[in-house]
Amino acid sequence: MAPTTLENAFSKDSSSTAIVVPSHPPLIVSYKRLATDVKAFQQQLAKLGVSPQSAVSIALPNSYEFIVSFIAASWQRAIAAPLNPAYKQSEFEFYIDDLKSAVALVPKGAFAQDAAAVRAARKYQAAIAECYYNGKEVVLDIKEKGKLASKGSQKVETAQPDDVALVLHTSGTTGRPKAVPLTHRNLLRTMQNIQTTYQLGPKDRTMLVMPLFHVHGLLAGFLAPLASGGSVIVPIKFSAHEFWKDFNEFKANWYTAVPTIHQILLKSAMPNPKPHIRFIRSCSSPLSPKVFHELEKAFGAPVLEAYAMTEAAHQMTSNPLPPGKRMPGSVGIGQGVEIKILDQEGNEVPQGKEAEICIRGENVTKGYLNNPSANASSFTKDGFFRTGDQGKQDPDGYVIITGRIKELINKGGEKISPIELDNVIAQNPAVSEAVSFALEDEHYGQDVGVAVVVKEGQKLDAGTLKSWMAEKVAKFKLPKQIFFTDVMPKTATGKIQRRLVAEAMLKQPK
Ligand code: ATP
Ligand code: MG
Repeated sequence: MAPTTLENAFSKDSSSTAIVVPSHPPLIVSYKRLATDVKAFQQQLAKLGVSPQSAVSIALPNSYEFIVSFIAASWQRAIAAPLNPAYKQSEFEFYIDDLKSAVALVPKGAFAQDAAAVRAARKYQAAIAECYYNGKEVVLDIKEKGKLASKGSQKVETAQPDDVALVLHTSGTTGRPKAVPLTHRNLLRTMQNIQTTYQLGPKDRTMLVMPLFHVHGLLAGFLAPLASGGSVIVPIKFSAHEFWKDFNEFKANWYTAVPTIHQILLKSAMPNPKPHIRFIRSCSSPLSPKVFHELEKAFGAPVLEAYAMTEAAHQMTSNPLPPGKRMPGSVGIGQGVEIKILDQEGNEVPQGKEAEICIRGENVTKGYLNNPSANASSFTKDGFFRTGDQGKQDPDGYVIITGRIKELINKGGEKISPIELDNVIAQNPAVSEAVSFALEDEHYGQDVGVAVVVKEGQKLDAGTLKSWMAEKVAKFKLPKQIFFTDVMPKTATGKIQRRLVAEAMLKQPK
């Protein structure tokens, strides 16, 4: 029978390897052992008094304790709310208050250090518990009971398909982060879609490099491989050197990451002989065709770009495995998700025309938490979710994203796609990375700004780059201003936020 909640989403009695944490010595956990540890942790959560559908904030790095506490919270009918452990106090406060969290799970030692997450949890009377692996089991060490103090011992619960299992906030690229509740049903649909897209099975072993506090790492890097009976290798932190060492040692055969990570790996020395890579998945930010080709050549494996968002419990489209067609610059076809390109009135536009990418599927959230205005504008009458991304489809249904509607550069009514410009500039041999954005302009309202990182050992000035661009794009798309920078500002997950890049460039000393 197909699983309906995370409780029956993976094998509980298999002796094959579910998780490898490459510490010294490595921690190797079978499916059976994982289920036992999760069950024990679930009982600890019940005892603490975490009631159904209350939020458990998990401020832990990628680790075995994250994995066990996340799964246990979902089995206990609670809502797992992973948080970036590197947040500052005000950020923790925002997220803990937004979800009225019952408890905050923090790493060992955080309480004694009065860490930012601890101070934030205390402010909102969330219980505070350190969570760590003691060599035998994952311990929930309660430090303060907060608002759970009055609750007696509670029973172990059984989750239902339409219970919310996870709340994550969107990345906040276009405004304040929005809280997205995702049910067991939503998560299972994505897990199934990802398994089908990449034909994941028990023989697959993936290196998890993305953080578990976002849908990319959580769904594609962790839950989908787990549901297919494969193994997930979970380093605490990403480093290119350790990546290849672990990749070889634990015989990984695929990974998923943002383009930033692929680019770091491209520059690193791959072991000799080359490891066998079945495929590489790229998602969450645009992958330029140039990097796509470099990756396929260097790694000798198909690169499959996918398109995802928090509201869709991650994946919506992907390029298929061979012999399917891979199209550089395209995020591929709908994968268990219906795709339509709709205009502002909700009408489908003719094939090949650009408008808003809209999606429908069992993976999509029913709506944001406490945000009726966003909910009213995000869904069409027949239940399609408006992604806020602009794009078009080729005759085979391949989706090409041309930008976010809010990020298109509107130069006196002429809409300029920043992704298109990024891809053009990235082809300049002296350029390592380019990000285009809207600059305020007295005459046009908006004009084009570009931030450029020049390759080591190369020289480039604004005049030369502009003349080079003039051969490749129409005159109205040429940047008004080019900013040179040593590092491109990025989010914790390596995503580009054009708004932040623009702010950082405008602050640069002239
Ligand atoms: P917010 O919704 O708060 O503005 P956000 O949209 O960045 O933030 P996420 O849900 O993390 O939050 O990201 C989803 C977005 O990421 C998509 O809507 C799309 O714009 C972008 N994205 C995802 N995959 C790709 C891709 N392969 N190419 C280009 N853009 C992508
Ligand atoms: Mg968004």
